[in-house]
Amino acid sequence: MTAVDTDILAVAREQVLERGEGLGQEQLLAVLLLGDDRLEELLQLAHEVRMRWCGPEVEVEGIVSLKTGGCPEDCHFCSQSGRFPSPVRSAWLDVPGLVRSARETRDTGATEFCIVAAVRGPDARLLSQVREGIKAIREDGNDIQIACSLGMLTQEQVDELVAMGVHRYNHNLETARSHFPNVVTTHTWEERWETLRMIRAAGMEVCCGGIIGMGESVEQRAEFAAQLAELGPDECTMNFLIPQPGTPYEQYEIVEGRDALRTVAAFRLAMPRPLLRFSGGRELTFGDLGTKQGMLGGINAIIVGNYLTNLGRPAAQDLEMLDDLKMPVKALNQSL
Ligand code: SF4
Repeated sequence: MTAVDTDILAVAREQVLERGEGLGQEQLLAVLLLGDDRLEELLQLAHEVRMRWCGPEVEVEGIVSLKTGGCPEDCHFCSQSGRFPSPVRSAWLDVPGLVRSARETRDTGATEFCIVAAVRGPDARLLSQVREGIKAIREDGNDIQIACSLGMLTQEQVDELVAMGVHRYNHNLETARSHFPNVVTTHTWEERWETLRMIRAAGMEVCCGGIIGMGESVEQRAEFAAQLAELGPDECTMNFLIPQPGTPYEQYEIVEGRDALRTVAAFRLAMPRPLLRFSGGRELTFGDLGTKQGMLGGINAIIVGNYLTNLGRPAAQDLEMLDDLKMPVKALNQSL
């Protein structure tokens, strides 16, 4: 049976929901081309897939920026690139700041705390700051799981992070392989893939996703979902472009809400099992209502509080929403 000779949602029900096998690229394209009249049905199916293969829990994560701005890379969506005249200034957070931020994150009930730095890859100074930070967070009696997002890594750096007890590493492929050269010219998609391969081989959890709305075609959205499925991340982060002043994408349009929901659902049908996390841009693309719809359309993880350079909604508002939806926040001992 293929997507072309029968209804794609009927195929997905049998293949993804019943058998747990994600849709392939051509099938994903058929999903992304479904009309608005099928959207509700699609979201319902994506929700059933999430409940069946992941369960009702929602993983909550907080993020902190250890080093902000001044990055030498030219990712065209990013206000932290030092190559564009965006208003983000270069800044470092100190160890007490990290400890405080980790404590605040833990107090929201989050189980994951991600330390992020705007760099091509970490240097010795950054890694030693991360090491000291993690040590101080533990000395503060905080047992939250720690994730890092520090750019591209060497094998030696991967090993160092494992030794520090880093549980998950975030490194986004950002977009489809065929579209990547239009988005970034200072490094390649393959270099990113290589870092992800090393992380997986070293036993850290892999978190990888990207940004929707960077001028990719609908075919490239299907391609990207299929490439992520091939990687098989433990977590996939879905961002929607926030056109940042001063960046080459500052004039791009925000992804339309229904289109964004269709994309979220398609990603869930590509990857039935990983955490699918709503990250940056959801407030702008969806507003309150759409965030709820996304949680009922395949999403099972969120970032609470503020993103790196954009303010998010207050954590309490998101936690209330999960309560309304009767979706329990995943407890720390469940994810150890
Ligand atoms: S490597 Fe990261 S921080 Fe640097 S420009 Fe690209 S997305 Fe931004």
